[in-house]
Amino acid sequence: MATCPKIVSDRMRLSEEALNNLVPVPHDASDVCPVCRSWRHSRYPKCSNCMQIFAELTRPTPVVIPLTLYSKPSIMRDWLKYYKPGAKEYDPSFAAVLEALLWRFMAENGETLFRLLGGWGRVSVVPSSSRIPPHPLAELVTNSDAIRAPLIEPLERGHGELGHRITSDHAYVVRGSFEGQRILLVDDVFTTGAHAQSAASALQNHGALVPGILVLARRINPSFNEASERVWLRQRDQPYDYRQAISWLLNRGEESMK
Ligand SMILES: [Zn+2]
Repeated sequence: MATCPKIVSDRMRLSEEALNNLVPVPHDASDVCPVCRSWRHSRYPKCSNCMQIFAELTRPTPVVIPLTLYSKPSIMRDWLKYYKPGAKEYDPSFAAVLEALLWRFMAENGETLFRLLGGWGRVSVVPSSSRIPPHPLAELVTNSDAIRAPLIEPLERGHGELGHRITSDHAYVVRGSFEGQRILLVDDVFTTGAHAQSAASALQNHGALVPGILVLARRINPSFNEASERVWLRQRDQPYDYRQAISWLLNRGEESMK
């Protein structure tokens, strides 16, 4: 379906106006986690969150693709928090900005990403822990027209515990049969990865294959320690370029693909 020129020009404008609020995702480095693209202690192969995730879950995915990094407080954080109806600060224009970002990111990188990940036939969002479906993110993904695959919502909260650093293969149950299907997972915010990776593990334990988790924004807390601040400042001081937004994925080492 062709998108009308007015929508395209609006999205181009919004995605250009947002550039100052976008922070490029780091390439592989001794202080960058090869999975979630946040900081890590150089003596460990992954950040502590990903180390825990890969120890506790049977089938998380090693490929997380953030569109941008962000920290708190920031305009990006407000867009991510208040694009969803319900909050007092809810602003419907924020969803339009996030839609434009996702659309532009995929317009510039979608084909390359599809090839690098080995393709996908379905797209699904990580369910919110407190909302009943449909998730506002599912609506955003559909409206953006960015990911050319049918959206499915097979995940429901299961009995497994889930929290900031609490993961479980049973945090989600999968409704339906997805044996052998390649499902791209999408989430809005990635902090520890507990939710998104528990969802990935549930789908993969159910016979699906999750080639990656696409996230709108990966949060970094620069005040956590010296390493987190260093990675944040290094990235924040670089201009964002949509055409370079997955250059880290093209250049990543063999080690990080395992
Ligand atoms: Zn990590």
